[in-house]
Amino acid sequence: NNEEAAARAAAVNADSGAPTIFDKIIAKEIPSSIVYEDEKVLAFRDIDPQAPVHVLVIPKFRDGLTQLGKAEARHGEILGQLLYAAKIVAEKEGILDGFRVVINNGPEACQSVYHLHLHVLGGRQMKWPPG
Ligand code: 5GP
Repeated sequence: NNEEAAARAAAVNADSGAPTIFDKIIAKEIPSSIVYEDEKVLAFRDIDPQAPVHVLVIPKFRDGLTQLGKAEARHGEILGQLLYAAKIVAEKEGILDGFRVVINNGPEACQSVYHLHLHVLGGRQMKWPPG
């Protein structure tokens, strides 16, 4: 039934702490279109873009940050660096006049990859409320 299907979907998308596809992207074992990179942060184009500009900004070292909900005080610096990198991406992509930064946290927010990532979206009129 529907309830069981929803429970299965939530389980599939639960935070297991297992390595994710993003480790392979960071290691460049899987190619990606990199927009920005520094020592701590990698930003690359989403494979399934939801806007003309759709870039994911991730920490190179997950350090327990499978999702924002797992953040602790020690993560403050990297969280700030990720947000600043989102601004650099928006600037590079020419969307500083209007862009959106999204973090999906957990099954109910449709998080599918358990390595913290910021979505930077723009290049079209965004709507509110989001879906
Ligand atoms: P979430 O749903 O967890 O917030 O976002 C995960 C995002 O990662 C999705 O937008 C999805 O399209 C993207 N994604 C998943 N696998 C890959 C991949 O192998 N390469 C790239 N570039 N993006 C991916």
